[in-house]
Amino acid sequence: MLDKIVIANRGEIALRIQRACREMGIKTVAVHSTADNNLKHVLLADETVCIGPPNSIDSYLNMPAIISAAEVTDAVAVHPGYGFLSENADFAERVESSGFTFIGPPASAIRLMGDKVSAIQAMKSAGVPCVPGSDGALGDDFDEIIKMAREIGYPIIIKASAGGGGRGMRVVHAEASLTAAITVTKAEARAAFGNDTVYIEKFLERPRHVEFQVIADSHGNAVHLGERDCSMQRRHQKVVEEAPAPGITEEQRNRIGERCVKACQEIGYRSAGTFEFLFQDDEFYFIEMNTRLQVEHPVTEMITGIDLVREQLSVAAGEKLSFKQEDIEIRGHAIECRINAEDSKTFMPSPGLISLFHAPGGPGVRIDTHIYNGYNVPPYYDSMIGKLITHGQDRDAAIARMKNALTEIVIEGIRTNVPLHQEIFQHAAFQQGGTDIHYLEKRLGLV
Ligand code: ADP
Repeated sequence: MLDKIVIANRGEIALRIQRACREMGIKTVAVHSTADNNLKHVLLADETVCIGPPNSIDSYLNMPAIISAAEVTDAVAVHPGYGFLSENADFAERVESSGFTFIGPPASAIRLMGDKVSAIQAMKSAGVPCVPGSDGALGDDFDEIIKMAREIGYPIIIKASAGGGGRGMRVVHAEASLTAAITVTKAEARAAFGNDTVYIEKFLERPRHVEFQVIADSHGNAVHLGERDCSMQRRHQKVVEEAPAPGITEEQRNRIGERCVKACQEIGYRSAGTFEFLFQDDEFYFIEMNTRLQVEHPVTEMITGIDLVREQLSVAAGEKLSFKQEDIEIRGHAIECRINAEDSKTFMPSPGLISLFHAPGGPGVRIDTHIYNGYNVPPYYDSMIGKLITHGQDRDAAIARMKNALTEIVIEGIRTNVPLHQEIFQHAAFQQGGTDIHYLEKRLGLV
């Protein structure tokens, strides 16, 4: 097993990783910025190394500083968490070439999946269903492109192969604006990502976001842990997630899950990963793979009883997965609310001192957060300060527990989006389940 690891992240996920390490007897090195001396996991770490000033570019994205921290502390591996350097193939490569284990997939798999055109090609060859579209990158022949778009049928979406975080995409509703839209998207992609490769997909107008969790070891074993529904979004940011996805049948789960497993084996995947799909009219369409642990991993943990971080650590140490596909049993339903330090109406960030914090509790309630009474939320990073997760024997039970927990939770001194969650959980459409990705923005009057 790993002896000591560097946690190259902050906030709730750093604490989550540290908890798994402590259970497994792995020592932790917390690397942190000067703004994060008082983070909970920093206070609890075996060793700490300050890696730079508050700005992420100089600290949490500072590859040499993180690798040096691993060197001076004699750590053997680096866990990148999510965000920051977690999907940076160059970082994974530098960690490994410096003699440490990257707790994640091989750099080659990150690179393959980080480029959307190559990702889609790999998925197609594994039999994963994709969105109808241009078979790969667009060439220079506009006549050809116009003909192809006509065959796909409008509306279509132009996407940058190197795009991410909802950037580098443009919807086209009619042929008249196609060529101009391609030119603009290419120019934007070149400026933003240094790569102007774009491709076309059919634009799905009212899809749900349904994603499959996978985990693989380095011995060729891969398993899927079912799906999550993350359709409750604002500006492409997930707000509420749940597992399993309402209305997905066991046949669909097994069929798509098996394809994802096959894809993992074909691309030489290792560690935890997620295949994201749009789901509309009972069909799945692959859009991208996230080659890391996700924020919403706890809902899957709650319904499968599997500790994904523990499993990541053990497969990174070269162990085999501790379970097989047939051991996976889905029990009950779990929902997660992302708790953000922001105004629940204007969505303006609200950093500052937490003067009072009461965590909710009771059966089936889990809270993953680094905040505590007297913690000061710095203004420099993502506004998510924790995740509230409930589990119940079915969806209604999980909802009832979440409503309770949202009444019990107290966070004073800063504003949070708890009132937004309280409202969402009253919506009849949410209670019924299966709302599409535009539901929340429409409901909030944002579109
Ligand atoms: P990113 O890497 O920027 O997150 P994705 O490919 O995951 O890009 O797409 C982000 C979001 O854009 C999706 O969650 C969905 O809301 C929307 N989107 C992407 N492709 C399509 C499509 N073909 N039809 C409809 N919406 C799409």
